[in-house]
Amino acid sequence: MRLAAAVTRLASEGAFEVLARAKRLEAEGRTVIHMEIGQPDFPTPAHIVEAGIEALRRGETRYTPAAGIQPLREAIAAYVGQRFGIPASADQVVVVPGAKPVLFYTMLALLEPGDECIYPDPGFPTYESVTRFTGATPVPARLRMANDFRFDVDELASLVTPRTKLLILNSPANPTGGTLTRSDLERIAELAQRHDFYVLSDEIYSRLLYDDRHYSIAALPGMGERTIVLDGFSKTFSMTGWRLGYGIFPRSLAPHIEVLQINANSCPAAFTQWAALAALTGPQEPVERMVAEFRRRRDVIVAGLNRLPGVRCLTPRGAFYAFPNIEGTGLRARELADRLLEEAGVATLAGTAFGAGGEGFLRLSYATSLEQIEQALARMGEFLASL
Ligand code: PLP
Repeated sequence: MRLAAAVTRLASEGAFEVLARAKRLEAEGRTVIHMEIGQPDFPTPAHIVEAGIEALRRGETRYTPAAGIQPLREAIAAYVGQRFGIPASADQVVVVPGAKPVLFYTMLALLEPGDECIYPDPGFPTYESVTRFTGATPVPARLRMANDFRFDVDELASLVTPRTKLLILNSPANPTGGTLTRSDLERIAELAQRHDFYVLSDEIYSRLLYDDRHYSIAALPGMGERTIVLDGFSKTFSMTGWRLGYGIFPRSLAPHIEVLQINANSCPAAFTQWAALAALTGPQEPVERMVAEFRRRRDVIVAGLNRLPGVRCLTPRGAFYAFPNIEGTGLRARELADRLLEEAGVATLAGTAFGAGGEGFLRLSYATSLEQIEQALARMGEFLASL
């Protein structure tokens, strides 16, 4: 096949690869505990499902406006304003199928060869992959355990050049569970304004926070015109399979994103948008219950990991991932993840699935039952004791 060079620069995602390997082992009769999957294990709240079904019955089965139905765009603008202080109006909101297209469209709209894109390492693998796809230069910025997996803002500043076009932030973060403080965001906002680059703020875990409140860089003075906010329904409302997300774009960028969407998807599915409207405007207790349950699991998994030989784990501040340091086991991340899957039947991801900065770490998703978490810890304990 004579492929376009750009497509050969795209990378897959470790989570999907490990899931496929785990499924093969299960087909051979092995039991595998799944700690690799980044999706809540709760059902979508019933009132949201009902709103989707009701929309289908009403005949919401046709194209919608490309940027999404107006009531949803308005509800999203109101939601981000009330919850996070992001000043947005409906014309800045583009609703897309899943949150990932916000990344893809933004990067297609802003990046080209010669530009540089700075992103967190370890970080969500799509950031680097799509940067390479556009022909722009990826510039990883390290997140270190010693700094609570926050950026060292001085180090970040040293990576900025006249070619820096885009900086990607992700707080709360996948895979580390770390968050950026308000003062980090203020310093980063000052950098963005001084050096005139854009910020793509991936806030998909904005509601999955345990102790702090969520701050968005888009709420800081002067940042509205240079920040793209990514969020969606997958994680907050346990709706990964509904495929619905949204971006809040500067007014001058939103129409170009809409045209990208017209070319790629026409519009998101109609009935999912009506369900999403119910998610935003309906009761929020299901989200609060889910976060409380994640907190219980987090406390169990972090305590359990810290009891394992050679393992040290910080307490994640948000999202649903533990990111333990495993250097004390004497194994590299990939070897440990492979052997845990093959020999102990525990599916995890090597930190290196999230960039070179993930060497020495594993990612375990605790979006699974306490019982599964306890079993995974027991299996890991036995395996590590046998080394
Ligand atoms: N951003 C981050 C940091 C994620 O972890 C994910 C999903 O795992 C996404 C974006 C994409 O979300 P969606 O499934 O809604 O496309």
